[in-house]
Amino acid sequence: MTNIIDGNRIAQEIRNEIKAKTERLKLDTAGIVPGLAVMLVGDDPASKIYVKRKENACNEVGFYSREYKFPADTDEKTVLATIDALNQDAAIHGILVQLPLPGHINPAHIIEAIDPAKDVDGFHPVNIGRLLTGQTCHMACTPKGIMELLDRSGIKIEGKEAVIVGRSNIVGKPLFLMLLARNATVTVCHTKTKDLAEVTRRADILIAAAGKAEMIRGDMVREGAVVIDVGINRLGDGRLVGDVAFAEVSPRSSHITPVPGGVGPMTIAMLLGNTLNAAMVGAQTD
Ligand code: NDP
Repeated sequence: MTNIIDGNRIAQEIRNEIKAKTERLKLDTAGIVPGLAVMLVGDDPASKIYVKRKENACNEVGFYSREYKFPADTDEKTVLATIDALNQDAAIHGILVQLPLPGHINPAHIIEAIDPAKDVDGFHPVNIGRLLTGQTCHMACTPKGIMELLDRSGIKIEGKEAVIVGRSNIVGKPLFLMLLARNATVTVCHTKTKDLAEVTRRADILIAAAGKAEMIRGDMVREGAVVIDVGINRLGDGRLVGDVAFAEVSPRSSHITPVPGGVGPMTIAMLLGNTLNAAMVGAQTD
């Protein structure tokens, strides 16, 4: 029987845990409240929705949140000056700049300006370097959420063949490092991979993060595999689908995440978790 991994339920469980820890932190530290600053440049409709969701999630768990909205023509210097001020701001433990940024702003300059201790997205090169070398760090939220989904679904990782389709800096590459650190044997595929189906069929754990609607077909998946679908694709008829052809793949898999309601809700839960951790570390060093 196929187990459908319920990302909404698991993310809610995690948010409840974070809320309880936040209350504890307030009591133990005479009032420290995790604070998240979210910056949005421009008015991309999808980005606005994501920012709103992050704000709502902060409210739900009892965080302090602050939103900075800049018009699309704001120059890089202005954004950098705001980041600099937030780096010094004791009420803010996490800084998130919503991507993508308008073309005239270099995302690398912005990410590198954030204090790594407040980089709750886990995109700063210092955090990526720490992940690579097995040190404590803020880990990128989507791959970290995938690891949580696997763990909380009782799926063993050690010794498994894991195949990731997609090698982006925010999903595929950090996920490769996280799975490797947990002793999986990991293969990362991309557009130049020859015979993708031959590689994906080897997977005990298959993660699709390509951004191509329903590209993983039933015959690309080994019987009994765990299938994690990161993709979010809007079809012409308005339907939201993942990178996995769910109806074909689910009968073959032991576990599978749906879209929506799989990986998606985990990303924000991990952002909250990283912000709480930043506040707790700050409380210890104050
Ligand atoms: P990117 O576009 O940055 O990267 C896509 C990767 O997939 C690239 O490495 C690309 O290869 C590879 N790829 C694309 N097409 C194919 C193909 N036909 N065969 C093999 N590899 C392929 O995407 P992101 O990592 O940012 O996002 C991936 C998907 O995940 C998107 O649908 C996005 O919306 C979703 N997403 C969901 C999140 C969530 O919270 N659930 C969070 C982040 C992303 P190459 O490098 O060769 O170009």
